Amino acid sequence: VKYILVCGGVISGIGKGVIASSTGLMLKATGLKVTAIKIDPYMNIDAGTMAPTEHGEVYVLNDGGETDLDLGNYERYLDISLNRDNNVTTGKVYQHVIDRERRGDYLGKTVQIIPHLTNAIQDWIERVSKIPVDETGEEPDVCIVELGGTVGDIESMPFVEAMRQFQFRVGHENFALIYVSLIPVVGGEQKTKPTQAGVRDLRGLGLLPDLIACRCTDTLLTATMEKVSMFCHVSPKQVLGVHNVSSTYHVPLLLQDQGMLEYLQKRLNLSQISIKPEFK
Ligand code: ADP
Repeated sequence: VKYILVCGGVISGIGKGVIASSTGLMLKATGLKVTAIKIDPYMNIDAGTMAPTEHGEVYVLNDGGETDLDLGNYERYLDISLNRDNNVTTGKVYQHVIDRERRGDYLGKTVQIIPHLTNAIQDWIERVSKIPVDETGEEPDVCIVELGGTVGDIESMPFVEAMRQFQFRVGHENFALIYVSLIPVVGGEQKTKPTQAGVRDLRGLGLLPDLIACRCTDTLLTATMEKVSMFCHVSPKQVLGVHNVSSTYHVPLLLQDQGMLEYLQKRLNLSQISIKPEFK
């Protein structure tokens, strides 16, 4: 299984879910089997106990799992059926580790966030990514992992650290990262500084962006994209502009037009599969 981590900075709610789903859809359109995992760094076990005004409507899965709305995005975009374990929360992994501690699985050891919790997160992701999600009943080729919140929050730190370790566990050619950032427009000018600071934080935590998706109300100017490339130490083709569109179903083609698929195919060595004509 190849893993694509989608995380973001600056502020939450800028479209990580839509970009994660769109990326999955594009890969699926080339013939790959795609699954998805959403990480929600809150202490609740699931979204079932949260008021809709707090976190949006609860999305209920086939197995009764009460989850984040993004799981609904994945199921609709990718035409797959997920289960409750596809939504990982801080509450769930802590509960899992504490249950194991009570059972005596770590006998004699001091149970710590690193390595016990971070290992549990990695094992969880590896296990769930292999569960078949479509009618073929086969193991997925690609797993999109979306990390909610923003990189740098205390809340998401164990997950960020787990993913830092995970890139070595699965190997460079099996792990890519899409960083979703916000380009605010101030006084008519597209500002890249928050993105620069966010990417610096990300790198400081040991994660390197393969693609930087810049969310902006307006179409990204070439000069803005060049600046992001220059100051975030990535090549221009690794910078994608994602402006506001009338329907989020336009986002897959917006990404496709900027060569995202070709980039990921090369980066993750997906060349064994052919692109369907309509996506050429
Ligand atoms: P996050 O996962 O970062 O919290 P979401 O993917 O849930 O963000 O998106 C937040 C909101 O922004 C949603 O209502 C979504 O429809 C909207 N949105 C995301 N991307 C775009 C876009 N390119 N154009 C217009 N609206 C968008």
